[in-house]
Amino acid sequence: MPSPEEIITDLNLSEEQAAVRETTRQFACLELQPLAAEIDQTQRIPEHVWKRLSELQLLGAAIPQDYGGLGLSTLCSITVVEELARVCASTALAVGAHTGLCASPIVRFGNENQKQMFLPPLALSGTIGAFGLTESGAGSDAGNAKTLAIQKADKFVVNGSKIFITNAPIAGTFVVAVSTSPKAGAQGITALIIEAGTPGFTVVPGSEKLGMRGSSWGELFFQDAEVPLANMLGVQDKGFGIFMETLVGGRVGIGALALGLATAAMLDSVKYACERRQFAKPIGAFQSVGNMIADMAVGVEAARNLVYRAAQLRDAGLPHVRECSIAKLYASEVCMKTCTDAIQIHGGYGYTKEFPVERFFRDARLLEIGEGTSQIQRMIIARDVLGKL
Ligand SMILES: Cc1cc2nc3c(=O)[nH]c(=O)nc-3n(C[C@H](O)[C@H](O)[C@H](O)COP(=O)(O)OP(=O)(O)OC[C@H]3O[C@@H](n4cnc5c(N)ncnc54)[C@H](O)[C@@H]3O)c2cc1C
Repeated sequence: MPSPEEIITDLNLSEEQAAVRETTRQFACLELQPLAAEIDQTQRIPEHVWKRLSELQLLGAAIPQDYGGLGLSTLCSITVVEELARVCASTALAVGAHTGLCASPIVRFGNENQKQMFLPPLALSGTIGAFGLTESGAGSDAGNAKTLAIQKADKFVVNGSKIFITNAPIAGTFVVAVSTSPKAGAQGITALIIEAGTPGFTVVPGSEKLGMRGSSWGELFFQDAEVPLANMLGVQDKGFGIFMETLVGGRVGIGALALGLATAAMLDSVKYACERRQFAKPIGAFQSVGNMIADMAVGVEAARNLVYRAAQLRDAGLPHVRECSIAKLYASEVCMKTCTDAIQIHGGYGYTKEFPVERFFRDARLLEIGEGTSQIQRMIIARDVLGKL
């Protein structure tokens, strides 16, 4: 049976990326993998897993060193997500939301005081981050957010709610989209950093999910919650751009998550196809099974190229909005197809909880929905390719 190293093509990894990958892989294989099924069943990531992630500085991967992080490039920090996803997609999603959706906009748009106040706890002290954009009536159309913030002296008074917020029940720091000029729609959105424990701000755990069950989520409720003006990220009424920019980066993270999960499903499928015998042969010897494996290998390799390239463009400061959407769209659809075929290759056993491919299949489904559905990615790509018609 071929080893994983023989199956997966390694692109030229930089020394730094290889080192980050090694640290994460060691943790993922030795400490996280044995817990992955339990994390799914119990619907929670144990505290000691968060503690280890913090000790290994993986929660501060993309946070600059001046604020307690590792200061890694996008390419290196998505490697953390990819490696975690190879064993536990729920943990990868939770870490991706913390790093890519909460810490990242503070790094990019925060002023010095905000960076000094909020980044070190996110990098080092186990404070978990969350990103509150979606509302019950504003999902794909996020610019329609109705959570209202009215300025009163040196505070905003916030009223409204958010739904589907990853990490909400365990987070200490939230980056939240509020409407400060309701008549202006998306042009009246402002980004606020809101801390757990703010009077008038409560979190209600979300309903049970199909997949990514270990990653907690919840609804945010604001009732006359007073948020200091000093917690405004960027400029009043100009927050929509902050959320859209954050989602561009988040998409390459979801692409990396999809890549890690698809790789895991492919490796398990190869192992099973080599070991399982029917008609006196390993099932991998049958052409229709081999074809599924071939499609997995093609998809995973193409996805890896697209995801890494999008990350490199972002790191280089070159245009990358279209490329991040392409990477997210392609990698998530390849991941779903790979996980579906992984179940097929495992036959009846694939339909049981005896093999992880059942969990992979459920987890994969989220990737075509979160951080912009596949339909929205196609819309972004088409607009960019077609230009203004
Ligand atoms: C597990 C999970 C975790 C999440 N975590 C977070 C989080 O941390 N923070 C956060 O803010 N949000 C989060 N979300 C919300 C997520 O980003 C939204 O679910 C997603 O953007 C889609 O919004 P919606 O669910 O309201 O669907 P809708 O926008 O109602 O879409 C329903 C369907 O209509 C289609 N559709 C809508 N508009 C168009 C259009 N213009 N053209 C073509 N098709 C269209 C969609 O593609 C979809 O198929 C999470 C969601 C899930 C499931």
